[in-house]
Amino acid sequence: MEANKKWLSMPKDVRNGLLGNVWCGNCSDVTTITAFIVEEHNFGIVLKGKCKNCGNNVARVIEEE
Ligand SMILES: [Zn+2]
Repeated sequence: MEANKKWLSMPKDVRNGLLGNVWCGNCSDVTTITAFIVEEHNFGIVLKGKCKNCGNNVARVIEEE
């Protein structure tokens, strides 16, 4: 819940930029994350979801300032 609040407190254009800049190991390329959840992380929050292109599990850590 708290993680989701942190995520939503970020400007929408920043969030969109992060969603479209996630590394997929399967594609070996940058992809867009879909169907993601937001969780607490040691360094901030982490998005966990699927690669838009191949469906592989991908994650993106967003460090708090
Ligand atoms: Zn992929």
